[in-house]
Amino acid sequence: MTTEVGHHHHADAKDLTSVEAHLADIRDSIRPLTPTQLGITEAEGCVLAEDITASRPLPPFDNSAMDGYAVVAREVAGASTDNPVTLRVSGEVAAGDTGAYAVTPGSCLRITTGAKLPGGADAVVPIEDTDGGVARVTVRAAVEPGHAVRFSGGDARQGDVLLSRGTRLGPMQIAVLAASGHARAAVYPRPRVVVLSTGDELSEPGHALAPGKIWDSNSFMLAAAAREAGCLAFRHGPVPDDPLELLPAIEDQLLRADVLVTSGGVSMGGEHDVIKHTLERLGTIRFRKVAMQPGMPQGFGTIGEDSTPIFTLPGNPVSAYVSFQLFVLAALGALQGQPDRQLPSVRATVTGPLHSPAGRRSYLRGALNRADSTVVPLSGQGSHQVATLGRANALIIVPEWVVDMEEGDDAEVLCLP
Ligand code: AMP
Ligand code: MG
Repeated sequence: MTTEVGHHHHADAKDLTSVEAHLADIRDSIRPLTPTQLGITEAEGCVLAEDITASRPLPPFDNSAMDGYAVVAREVAGASTDNPVTLRVSGEVAAGDTGAYAVTPGSCLRITTGAKLPGGADAVVPIEDTDGGVARVTVRAAVEPGHAVRFSGGDARQGDVLLSRGTRLGPMQIAVLAASGHARAAVYPRPRVVVLSTGDELSEPGHALAPGKIWDSNSFMLAAAAREAGCLAFRHGPVPDDPLELLPAIEDQLLRADVLVTSGGVSMGGEHDVIKHTLERLGTIRFRKVAMQPGMPQGFGTIGEDSTPIFTLPGNPVSAYVSFQLFVLAALGALQGQPDRQLPSVRATVTGPLHSPAGRRSYLRGALNRADSTVVPLSGQGSHQVATLGRANALIIVPEWVVDMEEGDDAEVLCLP
């Protein structure tokens, strides 16, 4: 809705809060969750609450990088196709073999990738450079000392910090934990996010629509977004615009919530906006207009004995989604010791014109093409237009001081997960 005229912008501007100021208030009021020890399988998706160090060197012992023959490099010096060197093969050492092997003068050992380098050996001749012999082997290439050897500590030294506190544990980080022998780690647990939508007009998908009703999409969307962000999400079905239903619903949900996210009922001043009036009585939630579009009406605060953070997001689905990705995501980060958490952004060239109200930062849905760094502004930018959400993979940012962008302009673009 860009129907406002000039003097409205000026009237608005003085009571708008900047996106940054709203974000800062959110971050300032959230304390990280209590860290807990989790097994490395359960810890996936959580954030480290401690530095992880190597308790041993990695690799823990010198070992072969290839299948071949463990040799003393000096003994095959000068070996070539025309001038091969023949050695006795005194045995074989395979990966996992714990025996104490050693090479003696004039001999070598067959060795497989990952096997402990025998005493005395200082290099491995790859099998391709030999005749593959069993009792005796003909070596057709010289090797330098250290050739095809993975030295102990060559990956990490004992005591090295392998993963630092604040790191989110994905598959790669889980590998590092396991490879360094950690069965558990201290992590910030996945935040439990309770999502609840309000509105007399909301019906459950799957049920017939009575005239005047719409299907609730926000609660499903926000729960999915929370899960995508690494949280445990619980969805509460739609609550009517009635304080007598809303208050007990919220109080019930507080028990299992690290964050509460509601949608709807916070527009500017309608008497049907029960969320606002009901929660205002709890006293700790601040409702404000943030200088953005969509998503201007924002509420944030803490409620209950545990000062549980609560977001009251606007009801329009696009507003609710953008608000989640900007504000709730930052709060989820703060709960997991990552206060700077935000969506990644890139620069891209817009392929068509864009409009934005003066004094407000717009987040417009776009289709980002990473290959050529262009972004197509999608049609249907109204904050109720869910269809466009289904085609977007990015939010094009139009700064507060810009009202028009043209094809070819450069824009900052948030990459949606
Ligand atoms: P409100 O913020 O309650 O004034 O709602 C603004 C607009 O968003 C209205 O058109 C609502 O019908 C719509 N809306 C509110 N909640 C939802 C929801 N959970 N799912 C889809 N649309 C919603
Ligand atoms: Mg409503």
